[in-house]
Amino acid sequence: MSCIFCKIVSGESPAQIIYRDDLVTAFRDNHPIARTHVLIIPNRHIASVNELEAEDELLVGHMVTVAKGLAVREGVAEDGYRLILNTGAHGGQTIPHLHLHLIAGKFARFTLR
Ligand code: AMP
Ligand code: ZN
Repeated sequence: MSCIFCKIVSGESPAQIIYRDDLVTAFRDNHPIARTHVLIIPNRHIASVNELEAEDELLVGHMVTVAKGLAVREGVAEDGYRLILNTGAHGGQTIPHLHLHLIAGKFARFTLR
């Protein structure tokens, strides 16, 4: 398995992990575009939103709930934040392992790459 995010989940690749449970892992983006930039990913490889099945609904809901909890922990909940799921080439997705961006900070401005 050559997926970089699977390697972060397994511990093969380094990352600044700030949360983990049975379903998801959260770590700091290594090229942050704002003061807070965290990625929340499923521990199981799912390429993108396009590959989600009906039985993944609880997992995706959990990703959002974890993002909310991390926003509180990062101290950004009150001022606000963005949750972004880029999907596919035209959606700006560069890593084919589902990931929810939690982006916050005064200068948080999402730019497509
Ligand atoms: P996307 O463009 O939605 O696919 O976002 C991928 C994100 O993953 C980008 O913001 C990258 O900076 C980030 N990223 C890529 N590799 C790593 C890594 N090894 N550790 C942390 N973040 C990463
Ligand atoms: Zn993966």
